[in-house]
Amino acid sequence: MVSGQAKRRDGANWKVNTMEDVNCIFCDDAKSELYKEENGYRAVRCSRCELVWVTPRPSIDEMKKLYEGQETQIDLSGHLLERDLKSIQAKKCLQLISKYISEGRLLEVGSAAGYFLWEAKKSGFDVQGIDITHQFVEYSRNVLQIPTFEGILRDVPFEDNSFDAVYMRNVLSHLAYPLEEFAIMHRLLRPGGFVIMETGNLAELPADPDVYLELPDHLYHFSEKTIDLLLRKTGFTPVRTHRFTLLSRLAPFAWIERQFAKKVAQSREPKPMWAIPTKLPPSKWHKQIISHLAQFVRYDLGRILPKKGTRATLVIVGKKENS
Ligand SMILES: [Zn+2]
Repeated sequence: MVSGQAKRRDGANWKVNTMEDVNCIFCDDAKSELYKEENGYRAVRCSRCELVWVTPRPSIDEMKKLYEGQETQIDLSGHLLERDLKSIQAKKCLQLISKYISEGRLLEVGSAAGYFLWEAKKSGFDVQGIDITHQFVEYSRNVLQIPTFEGILRDVPFEDNSFDAVYMRNVLSHLAYPLEEFAIMHRLLRPGGFVIMETGNLAELPADPDVYLELPDHLYHFSEKTIDLLLRKTGFTPVRTHRFTLLSRLAPFAWIERQFAKKVAQSREPKPMWAIPTKLPPSKWHKQIISHLAQFVRYDLGRILPKKGTRATLVIVGKKENS
């Protein structure tokens, strides 16, 4: 047991009492090298499989405190209040998911405020969320009426083979024990069920001083290769990887993204952590337009641009085979 310090969002130091050392989850005996340092944490990269991870890192209990106390990089109130953005994002993801499955019981791991499941429910899924952050769970249950389990995957009370699909968006990097957690998802899915996840591809690329890894929130960074490894090692068959090149480095798109970020920032005045909204925030037309534009840039333009050696959003689909 060792202690460490993390930087809070306001720049002050935040003491972490319990830290743990971590090895590559795929190749125990491989060497690792420093990838990048950030916020007092070190991300290393496996010399064999290219996985990037944080070591040492805060214990799981420390991470829960970190998320709930807003020491995290996740903006809780932003997630709760950005109804238009989250709903439009959700609809875009559901369009893609419908290529594989469009009804049945759907579990979202890391369901945050619950907007994805809110839209999924409207489109016909029977939904269930799980999230570690108390404020999100309260909002999702009470305002959006989404059944949401508060906790982590290893504690869920659900029966084996009881879901048709598991979905995760920007959650893979937050999983503390990816092999164990994917094995649980495999167990929860019925034979023929799908795991669908959206994540970044940072570990494919050399460390870039301008790219923020969000340490220690992001405990792991994967690549197409290591996600394939993760799926196969936990019993899934990789079905397809959809790759959307990120355009934010190109001038006109960078401008759009800055406008979008500015609008989001304006609506994100810091809220005390206990101020959980008790009703749905109103939908605003200008936020809808900006959100549609952002999703168009990310998914529709991102889909047709060159794909090699660039930062991208990956949507990966795996299947639990009928056995
Ligand atoms: Zn490795």
